[in-house]
Amino acid sequence: MASVTVLDRRLPRKPPWLRVRAPTSRAFHETRRLMRGKRLHTVCEEAACPNIGECWQQRHATFMILGDTCTRACAFCNVKTGRPKPVDPLEPVRLAEAVVEMGLAHVVITSVDRDDLEDGGAMQFVRCIEELRRRAPETTVEILTPDFLRKEGAAERVIDARPDVFNHNLETVPRLYRTVRPGARYFHSLRLLQRVKERDPGIFTKSGIMVGLGEERREIHQVMDDLRSADVDFLTIGQYLQPTARHHRVERFVPPEEFEAHARTARAKGFLMVSASPLTRSSYHAGEDFARLRAAREARLATAAGDGEGTGPR
Ligand code: SF4
Repeated sequence: MASVTVLDRRLPRKPPWLRVRAPTSRAFHETRRLMRGKRLHTVCEEAACPNIGECWQQRHATFMILGDTCTRACAFCNVKTGRPKPVDPLEPVRLAEAVVEMGLAHVVITSVDRDDLEDGGAMQFVRCIEELRRRAPETTVEILTPDFLRKEGAAERVIDARPDVFNHNLETVPRLYRTVRPGARYFHSLRLLQRVKERDPGIFTKSGIMVGLGEERREIHQVMDDLRSADVDFLTIGQYLQPTARHHRVERFVPPEEFEAHARTARAKGFLMVSASPLTRSSYHAGEDFARLRAAREARLATAAGDGEGTGPR
């Protein structure tokens, strides 16, 4: 008799350090009402982020512009894939209104991939930044962009809008791109981050990877070296969580002490800031981290100036 293979569709049980409380706070429900009212999307909801209870309680959300449908199908991501709707010209206005209403000191804006658009969605990022500068001039702006692959001049338009932080995640080590991020190219993403710094050294650059996808420690160290050679300021490392049984499987739950070891290595390699923990996401605690990032840069500049004084010609 032929044997029958039964696929195990269950997701792996999370270890204690990844278990979080279900969101219940009043602020959480108010944030959700505001997003629905303004017809805005958040990556917090679309990506089923485990930190949503904590972040929304503190009224910190990451806006996802250019709709809720992505033109790519990365194996780790919960955002739906398909043919997106046309760009909404009033989205930047509603986003800025929501930021004002929430009283955000720092805002993070990301988007789906829009390979269907000539500019990859770059101008919608620009319009959002401009609208925020007009309506919320005190709010600092962090953007987490797609790679703008094959979109000539798109990244430059976004850089020239001068966000405070330009984030683009490498997501994983180059060996795993084919299975984890098949529509992207590792060296293109790296070069994008380098181009930001070359064009405007005043903008902080940031990138992140997930662990638990099958990468090896030496590969993570190589990514750190690559990011430092692209002059990236801030590195985030978090645990990959499998959204559904159809997504890439979790190869391993990395224990908290391994994240601490990664953080030590990354700091030694020269990043201005490192955030590495099981629940780290690129926008987790982004507001506080931005303040620390700014302080770290000032401290480093002061040290460099002091060294210069000590060793320069007299
Ligand atoms: S970590 Fe980022 S994506 Fe997750 S809930 Fe917080 S703001 Fe949203």
